[in-house]
Amino acid sequence: MKIPKCEYVKCDRKASIYVLLNNKQLAFCDEHYRKLISLLTKIALLKNAAELENVKVKREGKKVRFVSKVKVPRKMPRISSRYIGLVREYMGTYTRK
Ligand SMILES: [Zn+2]
Repeated sequence: MKIPKCEYVKCDRKASIYVLLNNKQLAFCDEHYRKLISLLTKIALLKNAAELENVKVKREGKKVRFVSKVKVPRKMPRISSRYIGLVREYMGTYTRK
C-alpha cells in the first residue's frame, strides 16, 4: 500500500495518521498531528473545552492549513504537557516559564 503524504501546506513528509476534519479524511505526519493537538489544547484552555469542529480546514491548492475558529492569542505561554487530556468543566491554568 502506498503511504500518502502529509496534506499540510509545505509539508512533504509521509503521513502517519488520518484525521476526520470537517467531514474530510485528511492524512497528516506526526508533526502536523501534534500541531493540531496543540491548537486544540490552546482552545480547550481558553474555552474550557475543545472539539474538532473548532478547527477549520483551509484549502491552499492541493494542501490544507488549520485555522482556529476560536480566537487564539498569537503569544500564549507554553502549555505544560500535564494539561493534555483536559476534561470538561476543568479550566486548566498555565504558567509562564
Ligand atoms: Zn506534515
